[in-house]
Amino acid sequence: MQKKKTTIVVTILVLILAVAGSLVAWQSNSQKDDKKSDKLTIVASTNVYAELAKTVAGNHANVSAIITKQSVSPEDYEPTNAVAKKVAKADIAFGNGLGYDAWLQKLAKTSKSTQVLYVGNDILNKKSGSNPHLWNDPANMIKAAQGLADTLSKKDPKHKADYQANAQAYATKLKPVTDKIAELKSAVAGKEVMETEPVYEYMLDALGANVVGTDFAEAIEEGNDPSPAVLTDIQNKIKNHELAFLVYNTQTTGGTVDKIVKLAKDNNIPIVKVTETSPEKTSYVDWKLSELKQVQEIVAK
Ligand SMILES: [Zn+2]
Repeated sequence: MQKKKTTIVVTILVLILAVAGSLVAWQSNSQKDDKKSDKLTIVASTNVYAELAKTVAGNHANVSAIITKQSVSPEDYEPTNAVAKKVAKADIAFGNGLGYDAWLQKLAKTSKSTQVLYVGNDILNKKSGSNPHLWNDPANMIKAAQGLADTLSKKDPKHKADYQANAQAYATKLKPVTDKIAELKSAVAGKEVMETEPVYEYMLDALGANVVGTDFAEAIEEGNDPSPAVLTDIQNKIKNHELAFLVYNTQTTGGTVDKIVKLAKDNNIPIVKVTETSPEKTSYVDWKLSELKQVQEIVAK
């Protein structure tokens, strides 16, 4: 009897030790995993910038986007607590800047370790008040990739060569877009075009177009009613067939915009449909090419 009891006690003790031992092993393993994921963390304000950051960081950083849905406007976005925590834990908060995603900097300021990198303010050195829709010129995106690569090279010098090579790879990835612009430039250059909102301005500039009716586009962007003088001016431009095409941001519709789009259609002014934010699950290159193909169909006629 006595012997059996001892055996049971010893067995239980061995079991306890085994469990405790495996707990210790598990704990040190998970600590190792923590160290292993010493990767940098980049939080981008939109999926367009996250796509860029993923290419530049390669497998040396965990990259995520805050806004991934086309229905959410970065300009009006209000971050949740979970997003605030995510930004505070990130090494780099990567965004557009120029007031477009000002909330990103506000969140990053709550943490000493989060560095804000704005494409407009920090990389392109644009003045505040400049048109914030920077991504519509691929040249801006290529500079943004280089700027991010330089920042990552400073934070993680061990992988500098990779970051620099990845920035080059990003520029190569965008070649179908830059080639298409070069191809269309002579046909678009100098032509008068108008936008319902100034979202596509950098692309139109890259194509060499003469962008007119900017007072109208800016009023719509600000949510204001264009003045009667401004309205009359653009109505005349449409009726007199002065415009090569009208660029229509399909994400901002209603009242005045609908009337101008209808007037353009009635007067056989071609319309290029663009969106301010990236369609879901569409790469930057595919997004920009689908817009440029519409321009191509118009100017090829
Ligand atoms: Zn906008």
